Amino acid sequence: MPIATVNPADGETLQTFDPLSDEEIEQRLADADAAFRTYRTTTFEERSRLLNAAADLLEREASGVARVITTEMGKTLAAAEAEAAKCVKAMRWYARNAEDLLAPEYPAAEDVEDAGAVRARVRYRPLGPVLAVMPWNFPLWQVIRFAAPALMAGNVGLLKHASNVPQTALYLGDLFHRAGFAPGCFQTLLVSSRAIESVLRDPRVVAATLTGSEGAGRSVASVAGDEVKKTVLELGGSDPYIVMPSADIDAAARTAVTARVQNNGQSCIAAKRFIVHTDVYDAFAERFTAGMQALTVGDPMKPETDVGPLAGKQGRDDLEELVTDALTQGAQALCGGRRPEGLERGFYYEPTVLTGVTEQMRIHREEAFGPVAALYRAADLDEAIELANDTPFGLSSNVWTQDECETDRCAQDLEAGSIYFNGMTASHPALPFGGIKRSGYGRELSGHGIREFCNTTTVWRA
Ligand code: NAP
Repeated sequence: MPIATVNPADGETLQTFDPLSDEEIEQRLADADAAFRTYRTTTFEERSRLLNAAADLLEREASGVARVITTEMGKTLAAAEAEAAKCVKAMRWYARNAEDLLAPEYPAAEDVEDAGAVRARVRYRPLGPVLAVMPWNFPLWQVIRFAAPALMAGNVGLLKHASNVPQTALYLGDLFHRAGFAPGCFQTLLVSSRAIESVLRDPRVVAATLTGSEGAGRSVASVAGDEVKKTVLELGGSDPYIVMPSADIDAAARTAVTARVQNNGQSCIAAKRFIVHTDVYDAFAERFTAGMQALTVGDPMKPETDVGPLAGKQGRDDLEELVTDALTQGAQALCGGRRPEGLERGFYYEPTVLTGVTEQMRIHREEAFGPVAALYRAADLDEAIELANDTPFGLSSNVWTQDECETDRCAQDLEAGSIYFNGMTASHPALPFGGIKRSGYGRELSGHGIREFCNTTTVWRA
């Protein structure tokens, strides 16, 4: 894949970039290694000052950065601005809270006296240079979600960003540098995915985090496994959205539209499979379909646009194939199911609602990474939970109900890293984020996220 900015709204290639040479990669690895030796000894106060400075810069530059993001990957300008604001919030949250999150722990003296210790404590120490392989769909947020805790913990970062967001990638490297972080603390590597293996095998790189597809995750994790290096994987999802009869159906249908088409439908935590109790199925389907049909598809730079293009031609073609596979096997499109007219130059696809989806269809098991919803009818909660769990993924899940027993049951039985009741999934710095099954492992955000790349050290004194 060439490293290039291609505007998905019209398919035009705006700028291409040469990948780093082997010598340039070597220099960056050496810089990361050298930076870590000093940076690891900085105080939390110093790290907070630097991270807050980066947050201030990003806040001031948000509208310009948002235009770059929209140009590179097609999300609406409003969504890109919201993403920048969310990053600022997370940076300030970690700047404020990291010291407490990583405070030493002192086991009670009576618990350790039979270990012979007069005093024992647990310290969270940094690990070293961490490689971050990141996707284009939230090109700022995914990186900041890693970088803010990693830098606060005293690690340094090497970013291999997706090849279609090079300008956002360069901006991020520059941001931390301008904020005052020493050279080598956070660097962008403009390289293709083929270069990842040798970077990851380099002894100076101690761990990796990857957000992206299952294939990329498997590839990075197998190299890391071979090198016995820690990984965190944030992979795909096909989140269920269960609607039960006690729910507010209007609110559930309205939120369902947002949950499905956020980020032009290209979010790992977008609700993708809508599982509706038979008693409210028709009412929900009618409102949900009307909401999807009412969306304005078009130029992501325009304020009236709800849904912009998909980020790339391949992604649009893959989504189209998934829909065609379902339709040819008997599914029906309540709306959409095709490319919109008049927008042929860009990578657009109409918001689509499919019914009659069966387990033979690819969309039942694969992630629909675009504005396409699969609607299922369930006879009762047992069947809804069974359908919800009938997926290789386990990222998040949504349930609409006012019934306490149903709430308890779902909280116990849904196979996912998070469960959101009467709302849609949205990540927050203070809450752990991540999945199970093929959605990956490890957690980002909160105290759980910052400790993923720490050396949890037992310090024992006789
Ligand atoms: P992707 O194709 O897997 O790319 C993600 C990153 O991995 C890019 O930097 C890419 O580089 C690199 N990459 C691709 N193939 C690789 C390989 N074989 N070995 C090493 N690196 C490789 O994913 P995407 O299309 O950008 O993102 C969409 C996927 O990410 C969806 O499945 C979505 O659900 C998932 N996602 C998950 C989360 C989460 O938090 N769980 C969040 C966002 C997205 P190149 O661009 O150079 O190929």
